[in-house]
Amino acid sequence: MQPHLPATATSAPVRLGISSCLLGEAVRYDGGHKRDPYLVETLGRLVEWVPVCPETELGLGTPREPIRLVREAGGTDGVRLVGRSGARLTGRMRGFARSRVRALAKADLSGYILKKDSPSCGMERVKVWPDGESRAAERNGRGLFAAELLRQYPNLPVEEEGRLHDPVLRENFIERVFAYRRLRTLLSSRWTVGALVRWHTTQKLALMAHSPVRYRELGRLVAEASGVPRAELGRRYEDEFMSAMRIRATRARHTNALMHAVGHFKRRLDTGSRDEMLATLEDYRLGLVPRIVPLTLVRHHARRLGVEYLVNQTYLHPHPKELALLNHV
Ligand code: SF4
Repeated sequence: MQPHLPATATSAPVRLGISSCLLGEAVRYDGGHKRDPYLVETLGRLVEWVPVCPETELGLGTPREPIRLVREAGGTDGVRLVGRSGARLTGRMRGFARSRVRALAKADLSGYILKKDSPSCGMERVKVWPDGESRAAERNGRGLFAAELLRQYPNLPVEEEGRLHDPVLRENFIERVFAYRRLRTLLSSRWTVGALVRWHTTQKLALMAHSPVRYRELGRLVAEASGVPRAELGRRYEDEFMSAMRIRATRARHTNALMHAVGHFKRRLDTGSRDEMLATLEDYRLGLVPRIVPLTLVRHHARRLGVEYLVNQTYLHPHPKELALLNHV
């Protein structure tokens, strides 16, 4: 039997970009940092960080005057980045972000963690102040560096550290990081249509947990693969796969994916083991036990009975077990 796909398909480290202050680097405007213990002490043991502080790399120094986003006058959607003294930084920051983000291609990132609320790094709901008025700020902006990152790498898994405190969002982000890493490893090799078809087969349960509709659409793309130029096929598969994985997996869809897994045992399971598995699945559906419980049973019986199709599903091994993410969702 083929071994299941490991969480990472190469021995090279998984690299994540990160706002430097989250690692404890004293780069904030006030000379402080925003060290995040989970990122440094838990996730940091399994990934290699690529830290970036756009404001210090731009040469603003530490400490520095606070900067903020201001809505362009005239009601346009544009924003400016300005210092408290009135210093205009929009053009410089946009130019820096374009070249720094482009250079990150060499780092071969599998994901990025941004500092929330920052006018440079914040991904969403960053304060934008009205121009020249005393009205309150609106929380509908995006930091200029973050905007460029998302523009140049639309498929890269990106999250803010604040959202990663939610166990469901954290598990979804880290699942996407390792899924992206596996897909990029395949697509940057001399892959064949056959290899893509085999890879797609191993993603079935993971995709079903996120979106059965997208799983079927990707299946159609793979079925017609031989008529599509390879470069275009790779691009389209990556776009559609990563967009499917961004859809939040629900407990109901996980239950459905796990039921599908149980179906693969057919008559090979004895009645006692089958009843135990279905009872555990029902407990998971009702929220009485975390996903690790039914998943462990499926893994155990799949290995014991040699159900190769299941053993090879990345859904059974989405990320390194050391993170223990499945114990909390
Ligand atoms: S939020 Fe971004 S710009 Fe601000 S200190 Fe942290 S890394 Fe630097």
